[in-house]
Amino acid sequence: MANRSISRLLSFIAEGFNSNLLFRSIKPLVIHPFYHTVSDVYLPYIHPLYIPKKIKDFENDLEFLLRHFNAASIHEVDFYRQNPAQLKKHAFHLSFDDGLRGIYENLTPLLYRKGVPATIFVNKAFVDNKQLFYRHKAAILIDKLNKGKISGTVKKEIDIQKIYAISYSNRHLLDEMALLLEVDFQSFLETEKPYLTSDELKEMQTKGFTIGAHSIDHPNFRELEPAEQIRQITESCAFVKETFGEQKACFSFPFSDENIPDSLFKAIENTADMTFGITGIQVKNNGRHFGRIDMEKNSRNAKGAINKSFLKAKIHPI
Ligand SMILES: [Zn+2]
Repeated sequence: MANRSISRLLSFIAEGFNSNLLFRSIKPLVIHPFYHTVSDVYLPYIHPLYIPKKIKDFENDLEFLLRHFNAASIHEVDFYRQNPAQLKKHAFHLSFDDGLRGIYENLTPLLYRKGVPATIFVNKAFVDNKQLFYRHKAAILIDKLNKGKISGTVKKEIDIQKIYAISYSNRHLLDEMALLLEVDFQSFLETEKPYLTSDELKEMQTKGFTIGAHSIDHPNFRELEPAEQIRQITESCAFVKETFGEQKACFSFPFSDENIPDSLFKAIENTADMTFGITGIQVKNNGRHFGRIDMEKNSRNAKGAINKSFLKAKIHPI
């Protein structure tokens, strides 16, 4: 509770803080803002879980970032982590998790025009709309219940909060509920196509984007044995290298990198060249693991989110 109060206080201070002064008070570093998708329309597989930014809000975020930071590619991130003295100005590397199609539709024209590269972290099982992420399945079911097109008796048996709470280990329950609610996940995949295709991703690579791995099917690592954690990382990194010809394997932990033990970093040191989490401005594992800044949390704007991360970094220097 105390931590949450401090976090709220920091958010409040961050909004009004002078960014120029704050950023100048810390030696140049590369920050890692990340998103999932951006959409002006309601997405039944996303909105019941979190509210993505609208295109205009993303444009405002990008404007703020470009005003204060240089846009860096993943290759520059790799260079600066090995040659930190060469970094003369703060930089940012943009990334997107879960390989969602909205990025291609809504953001690539803007990002290409501004010359801002990004890394798209994809799940091996979802690329080309082969399978649905279990959290997206939960969202689709909740959307159907919210829209009230369900008969009274079935609705009474299903508690929305219980759907939200279904874990990776129990994800088969979502398929059972889909039968009950007459939701066809396969036809949803075919008609909505929520995920990027390999061709779209390859096209984005030609414009300077890079493809990273985000596990096979987005498990919660807290529920997995170490051997399965390693398999999820190894197989997805191999997929990205083989399918997209990426030279370096980058991996972003699904959900969270909190409590990832040193033994796991050690086990994957020859598999993943760089790894990414969600812990703000942070560098760990001998300069190979980077925290990222969640730009969607509480629908905050870039100034609030980035200022807050810098304030935290001042309190707990990296
Ligand atoms: Zn994810």
